[in-house]
Amino acid sequence: MPVTVVGSIAFDAVKTPFGEHERMLGGAAVHFALAASFFDVVRIVGPVGDDFGESELEVLRRREIDVSGIEHVPGGRTFFWRGEYGWDLNTRATLETQLGVFEQFEPKLSAAARSSDVVFLANIQPDLQLAVRAQCQETRFAALDSMNLWIEVARDSLIEAINAVDCLILNDAELRQLAGKPSLVGAAREVLSWGPPGRRAVVAKLGEYGAALITADDYFSIPAFPLETVVDPTGAGDSFAGGFVGYIAAQGGDKPLTPNVLRRAMAYGTAIASFNVQEFGTERVARLRMDEIDERVVDLQRMTAFSTS
Ligand code: AMP
Repeated sequence: MPVTVVGSIAFDAVKTPFGEHERMLGGAAVHFALAASFFDVVRIVGPVGDDFGESELEVLRRREIDVSGIEHVPGGRTFFWRGEYGWDLNTRATLETQLGVFEQFEPKLSAAARSSDVVFLANIQPDLQLAVRAQCQETRFAALDSMNLWIEVARDSLIEAINAVDCLILNDAELRQLAGKPSLVGAAREVLSWGPPGRRAVVAKLGEYGAALITADDYFSIPAFPLETVVDPTGAGDSFAGGFVGYIAAQGGDKPLTPNVLRRAMAYGTAIASFNVQEFGTERVARLRMDEIDERVVDLQRMTAFSTS
């Protein structure tokens, strides 16, 4: 099933203990789209400015991502984000955010983008997420990511947006903050209780500790793929979401989303995120191959399986 993703398309300046890059292709929608492109047709939607060029578009086109929904705003500047990581790469400080063309962004999806069966609302202002969700009437599976900023300044809109999707993907601290519950499972169950009875899943991203999946009747957790060297964690969450949502999209709409399908989706998200963090920006995922992803999923299965006898 085709996937539409709406969110930031960015230039990122990133400093980690392993180096510094001033202006790399980034953005939540870009990291998501690259990861999801291993599974199905992906349509990326978002604004860019005059500084966004052919070489950036080429990275997406090479993965056969439909870039026709990238809106070039004449005279505008592309969203810019600057971040710096601490020595263990677990702490990140945002040093600069320039909204640029995002300031005036009003998503108007093309007929093709609206018709996708799967929609991912990457981390953007919740009213924009709601506007996109309302345009996608044929969607069979919608997922959403957000951040602490929107929990603090646009809580009501965010809750409305969450209640309009099937799956919420959020960092664990943000999930606790959103639900006002100190326990992860308690927070996830609280969010599940807000939505319509058909709500399917909450995914808590746990950084280097992996991710947990909570549904009305299941709990599953998977560790991050163990890596000795993490070079740049930027976009790990979005590439996880791309792998997770992409895998679900590739199942087609006629099969039910069984607990096993969701668990395998967690493994694919985890595998792609682990490649993403091994190099700066989009470098590693841009040249990743499906057989490398499959191999890592098999490794993850081996690492997490055990016998009771
Ligand atoms: P992650 O590391 O998964 O949290 O995502 C990092 C990506 O999110 C970077 O590539 C940034 O360009 C993008 N980003 C950072 N801040 C924001 C924001 N306020 N809104 C949308 N995207 C953002």
